[in-house]
Amino acid sequence: MTERLYLTQPALSADIDVLSCTLLEDGRHAVRLSATPFHPQGGGQPSDVGWLGAVEVLRVSNENDDIIHYTNAAIAPGPVLARVDQVPRQLHARLHSAGHVIGHVMMQLGWTPTKAHHWPTEGRVVGIANEAVSALDSGEIERRCNALIAEDLACALSFEGGVRKVAFGHLPAFPCGGTHVESLAQIGRIEIQSARVKKGEVSVRYDVTA
Ligand SMILES: [Zn+2]
Repeated sequence: MTERLYLTQPALSADIDVLSCTLLEDGRHAVRLSATPFHPQGGGQPSDVGWLGAVEVLRVSNENDDIIHYTNAAIAPGPVLARVDQVPRQLHARLHSAGHVIGHVMMQLGWTPTKAHHWPTEGRVVGIANEAVSALDSGEIERRCNALIAEDLACALSFEGGVRKVAFGHLPAFPCGGTHVESLAQIGRIEIQSARVKKGEVSVRYDVTA
């Protein structure tokens, strides 16, 4: 089973070993590694992309408890430098961390966040309104989100019984396997595009800007 370096280490590169490389029918190659700095697609986040040596990593996915790296060329078993492309990683971390902030604001407003999707241009957090809510004020949600960002709370990881928990400053920790900004100011600004309630379910659409 591939060691998931991204869960404990902020480094975007690592010296690892290629264990196997299989040519697929579509021309890509499926590569298994001893350990990986690449975050696979999941938890509402797209996968990291990057390189294994000079070979491009196009997508990374969780499959049967292991991590498969899809590449554009074959790669020989043995040691190689794995490098995550920091530009998409940072955007995904900003969007995902913004989802945490929106979840905290939902809790401030008496709602329970239940699911989230943090893909670029598709940001959305959904929750349950514990009391009847008629109208939502997206401006108020946005103001509260950006007030938390202004506090520039630092991200802290903890592990309890094998569960990774992620907290920003004094805010309560969420169980999470995703990638995050080091502190909230790196998000930039959160823009709330819409906030709707339907049958007790609250849906907040958002994006991040510099
Ligand atoms: Zn997270």
